[in-house]
Amino acid sequence: MRYGIFGGSFDPIHWGHLLLAETCLRKANLDRIIFVPSGCSPHRAKAKQTPGELRAEMIELAITGYEEFSVSRFEIEREKTSYTVETVRHFRDSLLDAERFLLVGADMYYDLPHWYEVSEILKTVIPIGVYRPGAPPPHAEVFQDLVPPERLELFRRHVVQMPLIEISSTMIREAVAEGESVRFLMPRPVEALIRSHRLYHTEES
Ligand code: ATP
Repeated sequence: MRYGIFGGSFDPIHWGHLLLAETCLRKANLDRIIFVPSGCSPHRAKAKQTPGELRAEMIELAITGYEEFSVSRFEIEREKTSYTVETVRHFRDSLLDAERFLLVGADMYYDLPHWYEVSEILKTVIPIGVYRPGAPPPHAEVFQDLVPPERLELFRRHVVQMPLIEISSTMIREAVAEGESVRFLMPRPVEALIRSHRLYHTEES
């Protein structure tokens, strides 16, 4: 089995995330994709992050009915800051004999070489770099000094194009706070949950 591990804050999940997952599933011939909402992210110190359980719930609503997709609460259930290296170790130990991939949008792909214990991450998973508007195309050369040439060649073959979608969670949070429409930026049940829990609203909106 070929598993894709897809981490992010997913605050909230949107169509960009879902199309990224679907594109990797098809183009990299994955069997399953596991969405892993972050706990306390070491990369993005966010003043106000939606509680992990609600972010996981929004993912569940978005992927209902797609059997290749699932959610892991591994990071949100940890009390400490979660590092990706711990997450990939967890899946290495729980998905024995599986081939493991790490799905990353182009912005994150360029960040990855600076992540904590990156060499172990790159031994444990094959990163799949995905095009994203506003970031240069993912180039495996960023890992040149971190992995042997054969592995670098393997990484080069795992760069994926998808229709560029200029949606971000930040854009959604800001639109909700300003009382603007967020229709069609994410699956409808996610939008409904945002409304019912009054997520991202300010006092005025
Ligand atoms: P925020 O605006 O809060 O920073 P985000 O929209 O970038 O959030 P994250 O949850 O941080 O979403 O992203 C998780 C992963 O999904 C990252 O690897 C990111 O590059 C990728 N991603 C998010 N949105 C898109 C998009 N529109 N197209 C391609 N990749 C995306």
